Amino acid sequence: MDPKTRPIYQSTGRYDVIVSDIDGCLCDEHGGPFDLARLGLIREHNEHAIRSGNAPVLTVCSGRPVGFAEAMTRLVGNTLLPAIGEMGVYLHDPKTAQSELDPAITPEELESVAGLERHYIESLRQRGVSMQPGKSASVTLWHADTDFLRSQIWPDVERVCAEHCWPFRVSMSWYYINCDLAHISKGTGIDRFKAKTGIPAERLAGIGDTSSDLAIREKVAFFACPANAIDEIKAVADYVAKAPEAEGVVEILGVLAGM
Ligand SMILES: [Mg+2]
Repeated sequence: MDPKTRPIYQSTGRYDVIVSDIDGCLCDEHGGPFDLARLGLIREHNEHAIRSGNAPVLTVCSGRPVGFAEAMTRLVGNTLLPAIGEMGVYLHDPKTAQSELDPAITPEELESVAGLERHYIESLRQRGVSMQPGKSASVTLWHADTDFLRSQIWPDVERVCAEHCWPFRVSMSWYYINCDLAHISKGTGIDRFKAKTGIPAERLAGIGDTSSDLAIREKVAFFACPANAIDEIKAVADYVAKAPEAEGVVEILGVLAGM
């Protein structure tokens, strides 16, 4: 963006944007029902912010497929600012309803993704592993037995990626093996967000609960977490909410409103 171009949103408060993780922050980690009462309050906050320009607008930054990030963006009433989906792979623009793949992702890297998906179909599927659908430049694997996933499947995935020189960063969250392209993260997604919106780091706040959200922490001026966040995240947060998940996010909005 041309530095002379005004940011697409400027609030009169301390921050323009809150970049929030989804799972464990706006909804629970286990696929339970949405806390519509709290999400409704977040939506009211966003509608008020966009109308009045005196509060930060909350957008999402998630490892979930971009379709899920789009749905959450619409649910919380963010009609203005891009959302980050699939761990930085996509930027979704609610103004045009279009999702853009990071142009830094090459055709060769997408062939690596197809290769790993083929390994899943040919081998891992038979071992009871499931692959999260709806992703286009990353692979996420799950098994009912988390210990088996960690001790057997994780090394297998590491080995097959090394054998083929597939450029993945393989990591494990609570219940999933995440295979993300090594140069793509929530951090690169936020960099694209900043370039597209013209909103600088010092005007960004962030919310997260697990280790992939450390990339959010590094890119924002103020970082908060709900009460259910892991200790590693609480240790680097400027504010730790007393309440968990969406109730905690509402609490954080109240703290930011006072800034
Ligand atoms: Mg999370």
